[in-house]
Amino acid sequence: MADFPVRRAQIERVPLGDLGGRVLARAVVAAEDVPSFDRSMVDGFAVSNAEIGRATRQAPVRLRVCGEVLMGKAAAAMLEPGCAIAVPTGGALPKGTTGVVKIEDTQVDGDSVLVFDGTDSAHRINPARSDVAAGDPLFSAGHVLDPPSLGLLAAAGVDAVEVYVPPRIGLLVTGDELVSPGAKIAPGQIRESNGITIGAALVALGFASQRYERVPDDRATFAGALDRALRECDGVLISGGSSVGARDFTPELVSEAGSPGIIVHGVRVRPGRPVLLAMIGDQPVIGLPGNPVSALVMFEALAKPILLRMFDKRESLLSLRARLTRNIEVELGLEHRIPVQLSASAEGLEARPLIGTSSQLHILAFADAIVVVPEGTTLVPAGSWIDALPFTRSGTLR
Ligand code: AMP
Ligand code: MG
Repeated sequence: MADFPVRRAQIERVPLGDLGGRVLARAVVAAEDVPSFDRSMVDGFAVSNAEIGRATRQAPVRLRVCGEVLMGKAAAAMLEPGCAIAVPTGGALPKGTTGVVKIEDTQVDGDSVLVFDGTDSAHRINPARSDVAAGDPLFSAGHVLDPPSLGLLAAAGVDAVEVYVPPRIGLLVTGDELVSPGAKIAPGQIRESNGITIGAALVALGFASQRYERVPDDRATFAGALDRALRECDGVLISGGSSVGARDFTPELVSEAGSPGIIVHGVRVRPGRPVLLAMIGDQPVIGLPGNPVSALVMFEALAKPILLRMFDKRESLLSLRARLTRNIEVELGLEHRIPVQLSASAEGLEARPLIGTSSQLHILAFADAIVVVPEGTTLVPAGSWIDALPFTRSGTLR
């Protein structure tokens, strides 16, 4: 797929308050120093460290209280020898301050203060620029703006950043047997779930998921729906109909939709074997198998890395090391992707393989991650340490 350029997402400038989950389109640097002045870490007194270093309860040091720093105000006076200046937590320290004593280690006596403990006072200063300095690089393009990232941008004086406009991904769900949640269901029909699963995964990755009416297994209607989705969206995902059955129209219609057309049809992987990858111009079109487990496994394995290129993002897979609780036994001759449920144990993470068929939705819902068993391996014994690839979830690292 590397040779097929994928349409890039547009870029827009957005204020910080409207940015949760968006993907940075350009690197951002700090606009201001954080903090922009030396701050006190505690409620107490700004002092000259050398003057109180030896203070103890038995031999307190007496300093004159020469002023008070108010929250949000610059420290007016310079700290003169023999002086202490009252300061609140986070308050600006006067020039000349080299230490702060905690209020608990002092006692005010008239217009002076007794200091009972001089240790560690130098460590109660949060120096200017100790968090970040103006001009420091903060995040590069492709970074997902999660809550702490947004907090740092706000603190560093950034008020708006350039992010990618969420690309619109059309979701065509095919199958005569499918009934939407909430609609009346008859014998022989099944609930539509891939549209829900994949739609949520798209949104979690920063895309705008464009839903369409369910597509019946009818050639003309399907062709019309695909044509419309290609016109209205930046890429299209199709659920179902990617196999070789008489009413599986995905391969035929995708290949008729434009060039370069189908690049891959079928992979040596279970579940998800009949997956289809195509490019129509610069728009990726991906046919996911209808079986719910196959659909999500292939979305993660193939659709996600291709779609993330719209954000100019090469996926860095963050795997979790976990110990297998049971044998995984598979057939020779295919790569297997086994959903696992992760849990914490005293020795680290444990991965419980969820073995079943690719139509079993509980496997999907109870699984946290995928373990890849390469073609040629038939047994991964219980107790082995494996790398588990977590599913896309709202709020996960991508
Ligand atoms: P297909 O890929 O169209 O041959 O579908 C394979 C299996 O997945 C069939 O049993 C379908 O009923 C089921 N299936 C297809 N699409 C969906 C969907 N959107 N939600 C749940 N199951 C589906
Ligand atoms: Mg079908």
